[in-house]
Amino acid sequence: VSEYSPRAYRQLLAALKDRETHFAGFGGESMTPTSVYLRHDVDFSLEFAVALAEINHDEGVSATFFVLLRSHAYNLASPRSGELLERLNALGQRLGFHYSHGRLADEDESLGRRVADDFGITADLVPALEPVWCVHTPSPTLLQRCLELQVPGLTNAHSAAFLRDVPYYSDANMRYSVPTWLSIASNLDGPAQLLFHPVYWIAAQPGVLANLAVAAASASREALREMELNYHWHARFNGSVPIAVSRLADSLSAEAQTRGDG
Ligand SMILES: [Zn+2]
Repeated sequence: VSEYSPRAYRQLLAALKDRETHFAGFGGESMTPTSVYLRHDVDFSLEFAVALAEINHDEGVSATFFVLLRSHAYNLASPRSGELLERLNALGQRLGFHYSHGRLADEDESLGRRVADDFGITADLVPALEPVWCVHTPSPTLLQRCLELQVPGLTNAHSAAFLRDVPYYSDANMRYSVPTWLSIASNLDGPAQLLFHPVYWIAAQPGVLANLAVAAASASREALREMELNYHWHARFNGSVPIAVSRLADSLSAEAQTRGDG
């Protein structure tokens, strides 16, 4: 298996289980040499998150899924999202808060208060939310600030203890090949944090842009569920996905390839 895929992800979990990994939550318990903090940032789709959680559950593995409050791709407050969050919980997974800074200036002094305020709103929407957070697509400056940022009552998965003082490996930009990931997983010799974005392993396309194309098509399909409430839409499509939307991933992917994949 050389490409990111559900099967490759399962192999990675198997490699971690071979070394008697303890799949730890970020809060509460103390770190041990076998602690692995398995983290999933839900950047685009709760459906992809559930698909990855089903693999974790099959393998007896528990991870923390960090969900966005200020996302335009999924709405944490919708009944549909509520069902998917409950499903993540039922699959034995933990839920954390993925803080999105939007266009906030890196030097904003009220960063800690913003994180706390947004966490409070998210906790109202997601009863199972654990008091743990990390930041979404930080600039290098913001990432540096988050390493030191203490928000009262919340564990910071982006703090030095989880990011600098222990090995930290992320699949951002699909930077590691699957063989490299398998070697990383097999050779851990102490606690570590591993970040896997559901989109890369579930969309399972070769290359970042092709995966994002599938995510964009999936977000469009999800948004169309709202149209089903409209009489005219329902009368014509009756629950089926319009052909134009079914083709969206292919056509986006083709367009992405003509622009050069990354
Ligand atoms: Zn993110």
